[in-house]
Amino acid sequence: MSPGDRRGKLVAGNWKMNGSRAANAALLAALRAAAPFPAGVAVCVPAPYLGEVAAALAGSAIAWGAQDCSSHDAGAFTGEVSAAMLADFACRYVIVGHSERRALHGESDRLVAEKAARALAAGLTPIVCVGETLAEREAGQTTAVVARQLGALIALLGEGVGDAVVAYEPVWAIGTGKTASPAEAEVVHAQLRAQLAAVSARAASVSILYGGSVKPDNAASLFSQPNIDGGLIGGASLNAEHFAAICKAAA
Ligand code: PEP
Repeated sequence: MSPGDRRGKLVAGNWKMNGSRAANAALLAALRAAAPFPAGVAVCVPAPYLGEVAAALAGSAIAWGAQDCSSHDAGAFTGEVSAAMLADFACRYVIVGHSERRALHGESDRLVAEKAARALAAGLTPIVCVGETLAEREAGQTTAVVARQLGALIALLGEGVGDAVVAYEPVWAIGTGKTASPAEAEVVHAQLRAQLAAVSARAASVSILYGGSVKPDNAASLFSQPNIDGGLIGGASLNAEHFAAICKAAA
């Protein structure tokens, strides 16, 4: 999927803080061997590995990206990585607002939107995560929570939201083995799509990925829903056979 492809299917792996130079090389070689894929495929890797990942994927149709970027442009922000630095490594994507960053690093809706804006300004496609916790779902707040999270993005980006990718990731489904049923996920995706459609037709055509314990055996049923345009894959993206099978399910 390239920025010009509206509503392209995309499967992006989120390696989180996993990997080693040797393990990455083996994983990427196996992934290249499993190509071609019927959808866009990307791996979002720990920042120190970006140079080697770029070299390992050069000439392939598999894109690469990072898992976070700074909301600042440059300067005295020790430990931060800017969107421009990611662009320097030819990243196509950067995940922003993953629930682990929202929960563990206190990232607000506004900060996540600022990171997305930095990514877009650097020519990257931000994959902006939204999703409710189990407590919020049980309190009947799913609709309000994801509308608030996406609303902050729309408030800052306006029409520019059309250049982002959105990922609906119910927090209770991440790394737990619990998955939203295809019908449950579709309800939220349709709601997000309607919120984007209220901005513009271009905004309505962003890809909305589902994430949360996607595995080879549930990927096809999730990806066949009308408003689910692929997936953001955590644990299963570390296994080349499983990740390739998920990518192939996004036909
Ligand atoms: C994620 O980390 O974005 C994710 C969806 O993880 P998992 O697939 O392991 O639930």
